[in-house]
Amino acid sequence: MKDYLAELNEPQYQAVTHENGPLMIIAGAGSGKTRVLTYRIAHLMGQGVDAFNILSLTFTNKAAGEMRHRIEKIIGSEARNLWMGTFHSVFAKILRIEGGRLGYTPNFTIYDSDDSKSLIRTIVKEMKLDDKTYKPNFILNRISGAKNNLISWQAYLENPIFGGEDAAAQMPEIGRIYRTYSMRCFSANAMDFDDLLFNTNILFRDHLDVLNKYQHKFKHVMVDEFQDTNISQYLITRKLSAVHQNICVVGDDAQSIYAFRGANIQNILNFKKDYPELKVVKLEQNYRSTKMIVDAANSLIKKNKNQFEKNTFSDNEEGDKIEVIKAHSDNEEGRIIANNIFETKLNQNLKNQDFAILYRTNAQSRAFEEALRKLNIKYRIIGGLSFYQRKEIKDLIAYLRFTVNQQDEEAFKRIINLPKRGIGDTTVAKIIVTANENNLSIWDVVGDIHKYMEGRATNAIDTFATLIKSYMILLEEDKDAHTMAMHIAKTSGLLHELYVDKTVEGMARHENVQELLNSVKQFVDNPENEDVSLGTFLQTVSLLTNADQDEDGDPDKVTMMTIHGAKGLEFNHVFVVGMEENLFPSQMMLKNRDDLEEERRLFYVAITRAEKKLTLSYAEQRYNWGKLTFCEKSRFIDEIDAKFLKSDERVGITTASTSYDLTSRNPPPQVKPAFKKPEIPVRPGNTRSQVISHLKPVNQAKPAPAHVATQDFKPSDTSNLKAGDKVEHPKFGFGDVKKVEAQGNTSKAIIHFKSEGEKTLLLSFAKLRIV
Ligand code: ATP
Ligand code: MG
Repeated sequence: MKDYLAELNEPQYQAVTHENGPLMIIAGAGSGKTRVLTYRIAHLMGQGVDAFNILSLTFTNKAAGEMRHRIEKIIGSEARNLWMGTFHSVFAKILRIEGGRLGYTPNFTIYDSDDSKSLIRTIVKEMKLDDKTYKPNFILNRISGAKNNLISWQAYLENPIFGGEDAAAQMPEIGRIYRTYSMRCFSANAMDFDDLLFNTNILFRDHLDVLNKYQHKFKHVMVDEFQDTNISQYLITRKLSAVHQNICVVGDDAQSIYAFRGANIQNILNFKKDYPELKVVKLEQNYRSTKMIVDAANSLIKKNKNQFEKNTFSDNEEGDKIEVIKAHSDNEEGRIIANNIFETKLNQNLKNQDFAILYRTNAQSRAFEEALRKLNIKYRIIGGLSFYQRKEIKDLIAYLRFTVNQQDEEAFKRIINLPKRGIGDTTVAKIIVTANENNLSIWDVVGDIHKYMEGRATNAIDTFATLIKSYMILLEEDKDAHTMAMHIAKTSGLLHELYVDKTVEGMARHENVQELLNSVKQFVDNPENEDVSLGTFLQTVSLLTNADQDEDGDPDKVTMMTIHGAKGLEFNHVFVVGMEENLFPSQMMLKNRDDLEEERRLFYVAITRAEKKLTLSYAEQRYNWGKLTFCEKSRFIDEIDAKFLKSDERVGITTASTSYDLTSRNPPPQVKPAFKKPEIPVRPGNTRSQVISHLKPVNQAKPAPAHVATQDFKPSDTSNLKAGDKVEHPKFGFGDVKKVEAQGNTSKAIIHFKSEGEKTLLLSFAKLRIV
């Protein structure tokens, strides 16, 4: 065993070796909180605490995996017996075991947010409410908020103000929707994400013997990123640790960035009240970043009024000043940063994996993807449209879900007419209403359809029911997840339907399904998985968080992700891009001080991910929902003390053209790329995520055309450009101007290029030479 204690500073040592009783570490970014938690678990195990008795709750399953891996290095394979994961995955596991107490069977479905929204849409329709007022997203948000504050539908109905005054006034029926939604989830034997926590609370409140069992099982409870726990999560940890009081929480109030999802900073304050014996450890030294980065981050976060006194310093090298890049457009921002990565890699002998591009919203990734691809730099995108959100994947998963749980209303709606069986929406609605009105499950109705309905569709429904029954028989024979999935993909007709579709998209979808089947095979073949049933596979899939979606054999990639997803991570060189007013800070967060402070904390999180170098960038113009908008530099840049910034804001000059091509085949920024088949063959040895990460967007940027501008190419003043002029463009070559018209503050020209055909260009960007 290595001498891990020697690698700790004094307060870290105190925290790691603290034996029993509550412990809280609230400290700045990069000060070793996660490391302390990891070593503390190893230390406890070294002192004889059984791994089965330690529960550690992390922000992503991947973070849990890394922690487990580190502990394994110190203490050995016993680490595999630790209970680790996100709140959702750990308590889903417990609910599988104990959910019977609440009326759920162990094979309950976990609804994702698409399922939830679809159910809300159905309910709004059934209640004959106006679907323009009652928008599923908004309603789900309110229901989620209620659940995370442990407000049941009964309580909500009595006091609709829980959903906010605005909602109570404009949408008085949310309470009734919440009630129906909860009942429908229950009768579908399904829980949504918030239910996993809500129901755990109910379980522990109403079944003291169960609570008692887990209180004695988990002799030590640890929580990382404690600042982002909500009340529901907080109460679970409090109940679990009530007997032993061995609870250790680590976090940073300055990094609290999930208030919009119900995370509550009060939890940190309450903690001191709830645990009078609390030991508090302060960590002040940042080991991650240069002095420059730590001081810059401190100068920013000082602007927040609501925060704990903290003093974070770094003993690392001074480091470079923070660079600020101004680009003309979002496309140019992408190119400058890709070039910067390309050059820095060469000059400083760095790898792709040393770089991260962080943005406020997923939609911003497009320009960077294109630019990196052109330079052949490998990247991974975390978040965004994940493999499991694709239609063909959801379709097959829905079949699997319905085979395991025939009460699953959302899976039923997806598959009943897929492939097409001539069963229309009205018939489906009728089945659901019949089931609900007669207090039956959907399966009761479907399995005996002639009793409840007449008409043409009944025979088709009968055939469907027979098919599902045949799957249920196989399931009862304890066939493993792969055997089941293969059989269902083939016999349901799903695979065949995709196979005969010979369009590029159809082929890609067919291969995606093949990959899903491969991943089921991996799951079954993995010796670490004791239970390889279909039910367990489905659970694993539904609990993947965005950040868990990419882990493959090739770690050497530039990481692109939202700042929210980057919590806890660190990279040598970080680019925080899109530093513009209304984008970051987001327009939606400018309404009051609390929201603005949360945005500022988000920026603090972004800055503190960087070890050696931080670059901020913004564009003067970008496409926003298909409209070109002019942008202003973010106030956040000016909130960093100027002495830490490189004062010469550099307007980007890139080798590529800076013209904005309105007619290009590339979609505007908010369009998420579709995906196509992997370019590596799928081999049995590849993990699911290996396969996923090799999926390449379909809309590959075209390689730059061959035209090379004449050597003395100098752009002309195009303010008087008119139809009939002849021009040269550095990328598209020679062309004839067809039309010039006003576009916002600038003009656009339609030009017919000899080699490229017709293009529409914005004159303020297009480098054109009048010939
Ligand atoms: P965040 O708030 O971003 O989650 P954190 O407080 O959890 O950060 P860690 O990720 O645990 O910080 O540590 C930051 C970096 O500093 C890691 O690379 C870690 O290995 C290193 N580190 C922490 N403590 C020490 C130490 N005593 N000696 C050397 N390196 C350390
Ligand atoms: Mg951490």
